[in-house]
Amino acid sequence: EFRTKREYFSINRLAAKYYNYCLLHTSEGKNAINYLKKRGIRDETIEKFCIGYAPKSWDSLIKFYKSKGISAEALEKIGLAIPRKDKKGFYDRFRNRIIFPIEDITRNIIGFGGRALDESLPKYLNSPETPLFSKGDNLYALSKIKKDPSLDVIIVEGYMDCIMLHQHGFENTVASLGTALTKNQAKLLKKYTNSVILSYDGDAAGEAATVRGMEVLAQEGLYVKVLALPEGKDPDEIVSIYGPDYFRGLLNNAEDLINYKLTLAKKGININNSEEKLKFIEQAIEILSAVDSEPELEIYAKKLASEIGISAGSII
Ligand code: ATP
Ligand code: MN
Ligand code: MN
Ligand code: MN
Repeated sequence: EFRTKREYFSINRLAAKYYNYCLLHTSEGKNAINYLKKRGIRDETIEKFCIGYAPKSWDSLIKFYKSKGISAEALEKIGLAIPRKDKKGFYDRFRNRIIFPIEDITRNIIGFGGRALDESLPKYLNSPETPLFSKGDNLYALSKIKKDPSLDVIIVEGYMDCIMLHQHGFENTVASLGTALTKNQAKLLKKYTNSVILSYDGDAAGEAATVRGMEVLAQEGLYVKVLALPEGKDPDEIVSIYGPDYFRGLLNNAEDLINYKLTLAKKGININNSEEKLKFIEQAIEILSAVDSEPELEIYAKKLASEIGISAGSII
């Protein structure tokens, strides 16, 4: 059976509505609502992001669509159903999970993310690559942000980070969904803004993704700043525990690329050990060699000089 992309988009839209209905109006959804409440998500946020719940049953979505004349084969095409191993029939991909619909910039639903309600693995299950969904070509919540070149776009890793920042008033936030940022994603962002703030998790994975991501973004002509979070914390935790004003303070202190690289290079270095200090200075000079403008170089050199106790002149 042949279906157009338009038809598949409308099947996805209906699935999002079905999951949202299951969350809000079924007895099974109560557990999921409690989970979202416990995490601090408000009703209007559930509505804004059309958050839903996929029931426990193996085939509730398949049955729902069957009653509307839409086959499991059609659902399989867009990643909502999976063929059984014995090839006899299908089962629902998303079961007993919180559902986050993913829109493209024209607000078509291209895929879904699903979070387990407990510690079971995988914590997140996403739609597979389908004719509608290609992970590296989209950013979560991009359809919800303002197009304003002067407004910084905040980039976070996770659904919950993105949603909670929106709820706390940081409505120019998108999520890269745990993947390394791609050239296509940077190009998309360039349509919305000239400058971005990377705010990834304060762990080794987040740091690595920041270093890779910032290069990709800068290559597309975006001005990049980095908000390095305290060890072990992500933006959701920061804004939920310390509040929006605290997060705003962190945003205002976000470092530009050069300073962030210098901060990373300085990590774990004992400045009182002259050997370590010299090694750091070598790395710092390597980092600063990317700065073309002399006045800019002087500013970085002065800052660095005061931190490590040598003259700016000698660094330059
Ligand atoms: P939560 O706060 O709900 O625990 P999180 O967003 O902090 O979630 P992380 O482990 O930091 O979770 O992962 C960041 C993002 O990476 C997730 O939001 C999700 O988009 C993606 N991700 C994490 N684990 C997986 C997985 N097993 N499969 C696919 N994507 C994943
Ligand atoms: Mn993490
Ligand atoms: Mn988190
Ligand atoms: Mn996280």
